[in-house]
Amino acid sequence: MDPREEPSPDLGQVAEGDQKEDDKQTPVPPAGGGHGVYQPRPYPADHLVLQPRSYQKTEGKIAYLTFDDGPSPNVTPQILQILKEKQVPATFFVIGTNIEKNSGIFLDVYKAGHAIGNHTYSHKYSEIYTGPEALLADVEKNGRLIEQITGLRPVIMRTPGGTAFHFNYSYFNLMDQAGYLVYDWNVSSQDATKDKVPKEEIVRNVLQQALKKDKIIVLMHDGKNKDTTAEALA
Ligand SMILES: [Zn+2]
Repeated sequence: MDPREEPSPDLGQVAEGDQKEDDKQTPVPPAGGGHGVYQPRPYPADHLVLQPRSYQKTEGKIAYLTFDDGPSPNVTPQILQILKEKQVPATFFVIGTNIEKNSGIFLDVYKAGHAIGNHTYSHKYSEIYTGPEALLADVEKNGRLIEQITGLRPVIMRTPGGTAFHFNYSYFNLMDQAGYLVYDWNVSSQDATKDKVPKEEIVRNVLQQALKKDKIIVLMHDGKNKDTTAEALA
């Protein structure tokens, strides 16, 4: 049942006819608003309202390698080198403050033909999770930075720490309205569980979790002391 059709708890004060009139004035946003077009609407929504989108179907088993938190001066070049040798494309969910510090390396990632995803400008939980608008502002700031360097603004984004325990309907709805496609992962390399996770452990984690899945999105990290993540790729 559509929650908007549920009787208002304030029925004592609002006549039923009026309530229906209110519903007409707050319609569900139009479908297909287009990427990058944010049309404000009442929030917090009490239910999920995502734009309809169509996706290409993939046949068989497919794995997407994703690297969060870069670019980093020490590990990104190692990852790029191995991906080049293996001729494997990947997705880098990058942080704005790290792009500013390592803009040359960031450009290398882009020029190598890998996909770039938005992973917020600040990556500061205490700021971005104060509300959906704060997150969106931070993501847009990073988007502008990425656009300055590459000429393109990513549509795909991954929220720091993932949506679980961080997103409610309001976050999903606002990011969707702003045109973003939010991606989590379904296989974690667990390379961030401690400072240096042995490469054998990373490989074992990924293979175990990937066993019974057809579409696999692998979470890995690109940053200080993540040399073993690069080694695990080799
Ligand atoms: Zn992160």
